[in-house]
Amino acid sequence: MKRILITGGAGFLGSHLCDRLIAEGHDVLCLDNLFTGSKNNIRHLLGHRRFEFIRHDIINPIYLEIDEIYNLACPASPVHYQYNPIKTMKTSVMGAINTLGLAKRVKAKILQASTSEVYGDPEVHPQREDYWGKVNPIGIRSCYDEGKRAAECLMMDYHRQNGVRIKIVRIFNTYGPRMALDDGRVVSNFIVQALRGEDITVYGDGSQTRSFCYVDDLVEGMTRMMATPDECIGPVNLGNPSETTVLDLARTVVDLTGSTSRIVFRPLPNDDPVQRQPDISLARRLLGWEPRVPLVEGLKETIAYFRRVLSN
Ligand code: NAD
Ligand code: UDP
Ligand code: UDP
Repeated sequence: MKRILITGGAGFLGSHLCDRLIAEGHDVLCLDNLFTGSKNNIRHLLGHRRFEFIRHDIINPIYLEIDEIYNLACPASPVHYQYNPIKTMKTSVMGAINTLGLAKRVKAKILQASTSEVYGDPEVHPQREDYWGKVNPIGIRSCYDEGKRAAECLMMDYHRQNGVRIKIVRIFNTYGPRMALDDGRVVSNFIVQALRGEDITVYGDGSQTRSFCYVDDLVEGMTRMMATPDECIGPVNLGNPSETTVLDLARTVVDLTGSTSRIVFRPLPNDDPVQRQPDISLARRLLGWEPRVPLVEGLKETIAYFRRVLSN
């Protein structure tokens, strides 16, 4: 069994990964500064003998003895990563440097949670790993997009220069239970609005597309990637190729919740990508992985979660 560090472990994805790795019998060190994460996401693990919570900001160095690192620390919702964009960039860049320095010192394997945002507003559709992207370097999303691109660069350079064992996964829009109520991303926004009977806020005309992956599928993909041989470094896309417009998502959420909410239209934020869909041929081939949970099933689970949270 391994000692595994998860940075951002109290967040949405990180907490599900903690559950998975604890269930597999590993020692899990969950590091988080609780900016967008919450102890509520890991409360059920706090007394567990193989689980440890470390409140720490990853822009500062940390010295631990571990076998593997999943580097997830970084706000992921546009609302939160734009709240303090300088801090977002520091988290991606200095967080990568510190976790890579740590991986180098203790010879740990490190997996970077990169993102489909490295493709920006893509001219190639669906997006394959060999596409370099169309990213605005000076816009309101740049702190996140360029921060994540710099982190990929650091991963590759620590690998080439210092022989660090790295894995890069590019995660496409993922949703599920434990997204924060105020997360601001589209799936949680629409569900919370529908359950509260508030207007459902579609930005722009809702014709932009995303491809939504359920959290359990994503966690499976990440752990499979970590288990690959050392020469398999990625980047590898992880996401659900089933594409939908934002307006269709709004309608589906209204149907599934039985809500009386109206769908209203709000201005489209700057640089909002028009389309996004992962090509997952590489993940299929390398990991024997593909998502299993259809959107409607995943939405039902997520709606049930938010119903419980809102009734407490
Ligand atoms: P999240 O906001 O729920 O999780 C991020 C976690 O990182 C939070 O717990 C937050 O408190 C923590 N964190 C932020 N800054 C930190 C810092 N400086 N030091 C320590 N901890 C810090 O978001 P998520 O959806 O769980 O995303 C997790 C990771 O996956 C992120 O790196 C994100 O960029 C990446 N990702 C997620 C998606 C998605 O659709 N969910 C898509 C692409 C990439
Ligand atoms: N670092 C860390 N934990 C470790 C080893 C390194 O946080 O166990 C940090 C260290 O503070 C440094 C960064 O990781 O700033 C990069 O480490 P590296 O060894 O690459 O750089 P150097 O120490 O030579 O600047
Ligand atoms: N969006 C929306 N209403 C909301 C939140 C988001 O229409 O309340 C749109 C947003 O403009 C984008 C898509 O939904 O086109 C996905 O947004 P999200 O913030 O979830 O993630 P992104 O993929 O843009 O980083």
